[in-house]
Amino acid sequence: MSLMTTKRTPKPVSTSRPLSPLAAELTRLLGPQKVLSSRAERLNYGYDAILVGKTPLCVVLPESTADVVAAVRAARAAGVPIVGRGAASGLSGGAAPLEESLVIAFTRMTRLEIFAAQREARAQAGVITLAISDAARPHGLVYPPDPASFRTSTIGGNLAENAGGPMCFKYGVTGDYVKALEFVDADGEVHHLTRGAFDLAGLLIGSEGTLGLITEATLRLSTPPRFTRTLMSHFAEVGQAAQAVSEAIAAGAVPSKLEFMDRACVGAVEDYLQIGLPREAEAVLLVDTDGEDLATVEEELALVEAACLHHGGKVRRAASDADSAALWRARRSISPSLGRIRPQRMNEDIVVPRSSLAEVVREIKALGEASGLRLVQFGHIGDGNLHPNILFDPRRESSEKVHELAHQVAQVAIRHGGVLSGEHGIGAMKRGFMAEAVDPVTISALWSVKHALDPQGRLNPGKILPDEIRSDEIRSDEISLDEISLDARP
Ligand SMILES: Cc1cc2nc3c(=O)[nH]c(=O)nc-3n(C[C@H](O)[C@H](O)[C@H](O)COP(=O)(O)OP(=O)(O)OC[C@H]3O[C@@H](n4cnc5c(N)ncnc54)[C@H](O)[C@@H]3O)c2cc1C
Repeated sequence: MSLMTTKRTPKPVSTSRPLSPLAAELTRLLGPQKVLSSRAERLNYGYDAILVGKTPLCVVLPESTADVVAAVRAARAAGVPIVGRGAASGLSGGAAPLEESLVIAFTRMTRLEIFAAQREARAQAGVITLAISDAARPHGLVYPPDPASFRTSTIGGNLAENAGGPMCFKYGVTGDYVKALEFVDADGEVHHLTRGAFDLAGLLIGSEGTLGLITEATLRLSTPPRFTRTLMSHFAEVGQAAQAVSEAIAAGAVPSKLEFMDRACVGAVEDYLQIGLPREAEAVLLVDTDGEDLATVEEELALVEAACLHHGGKVRRAASDADSAALWRARRSISPSLGRIRPQRMNEDIVVPRSSLAEVVREIKALGEASGLRLVQFGHIGDGNLHPNILFDPRRESSEKVHELAHQVAQVAIRHGGVLSGEHGIGAMKRGFMAEAVDPVTISALWSVKHALDPQGRLNPGKILPDEIRSDEIRSDEISLDEISLDARP
């Protein structure tokens, strides 16, 4: 496997090869319109937004749950692994096959129904995230989870990664909106789950296609806030920004967005947009408060403003909706700004307790400087979710060096009591760090779950789970109740 690079020279494509036995069987079962078997077609399904994996043996484009069942049973009979795929916008290599596999790409499963009276949406796995709010809005409803990729990512991919976004501090992540799930297991059996005491659906959410293929979900909708207010504050030290955030939250503010950018990130965006961002600042916060009642929204913003001023921040309140949009343009422009510096980037995604944030940002900055690679940091500071981005040019900077820095970033998170991922998942990219981050008892329990739902290990092999530890291999001194947690609360 290799990081996404720009230096690959495509091999000449042959379309005249005979069908593989699996492709022939799937074509017989589903018809040629739903099966991609030529090398030219399959090449497009071997990677996601970060990782180039193996070109799949065959690709199926199901249009119904029945198609998924047929594909899974055919792959099982052929002994071929299965990789689920949405829009392939994933940043941890989850949808990139690591073995010769059948890829089931959900992009044609786009049925979407809105049940306004119940405030629910029923979406097939391939529905684009943004389409749900677009369909709900005429009914006075929205679907709050907002991964920045919402124009391209699918709800199936969001569920498999338990995607978050800038609004998740107040509104929660994808899994918080799931009322029911339909999934197909490794044997091709269909399961209908509602959230409840025995929350099997909760296990599927965030399992990155390793426990089952999600075909449909019933999602909770809510009413959009009537009022939103915005401010930007900048600080001479990251610690001041982190303290301001903690103080505002302790005082009762629950901002709907609470974003952080470090000096390198602000510099990159300012180089790109030239809108007068404070280049000299070590930390910039962008904050929205929202709600039904204007007085409360203003009050919450005042709490944030007071905390920022108290910790030495300079504050600029947006005077109008247009002003607010201009401030948020800075945040939305991070990706294109970074693309101007280096052609590739590894978008890291750690969560640390907010109390450690300043130290974590400093340590990671120092590691970046020592590595000689360009590194910028930004993130959803309310949740302690930090995205250190390693920028690199594959023609000049080796992927080993990038991986090494990514590993060091992960180790900083672990040392500070954090976790390896807040929203992008573990996938293939961080699987190798799991044994350092998760205790043996928990790894063994995760494998027990995997064996129960996918005994042959056919679903998305090589993702999330580190090498297996069986329960009889765990020494008694490795069992510590303190360690059994995958959670890092800020
Ligand atoms: C510019 C950019 C910004 C981003 N911003 C955010 C952000 O703010 N927050 C965030 O959380 N993520 C973000 N991401 C990452 C990515 O968009 C999310 O992880 C998203 O949820 C992936 O959806 P997808 O449809 O592209 O899934 P894919 O990348 O196709 O797949 C992701 C994983 O889900 C599995 N999978 C896909 N569909 C199914 C299914 N139906 N059943 C079972 N498993 C399935 C795949 O096997 C893979 O493991 C961003 C990515 C980019 C490129």
